Amino acid sequence: MVYLKIDHIGIAVKDLEAAIRMYGLLTEPQETEIIEVPQEGIRVAMLQVGDVRLELLQPITEQSTVSRFLQRRGPGLHHIAIRVGNIEDAIQKTRSHGFQLIDDVPRPGVCGAKAAFIHPKSTEGSLIELYER
Ligand code: ZN
Repeated sequence: MVYLKIDHIGIAVKDLEAAIRMYGLLTEPQETEIIEVPQEGIRVAMLQVGDVRLELLQPITEQSTVSRFLQRRGPGLHHIAIRVGNIEDAIQKTRSHGFQLIDDVPRPGVCGAKAAFIHPKSTEGSLIELYER
């Protein structure tokens, strides 16, 4: 099986600490670590909701794609991440289905994960992340 489950839902936010407090009211109490991902120009916090996580994304540079997203569309749903068993297999299979990938090779994700994004042009407007961890 290539595509396993929804791993997380990415949400673009302007103020990460405020978003952690607000979304924290909708989850069980939990410790949350803020992780900087300088190569993506973002700070990230993950909140567990049952089996799925919310990935809160705050840009820290103007060049970040999340920064451009916030300018164009405002805060809110940014992407849906599908957990895959093997990212290279998933990229190959996804491409063979005719999807346009943003990443031809996996990019490093948070905490040693590997990720590749499918362009929203080929998914009726939703940014989908293939995610191996
Ligand atoms: Zn993600």
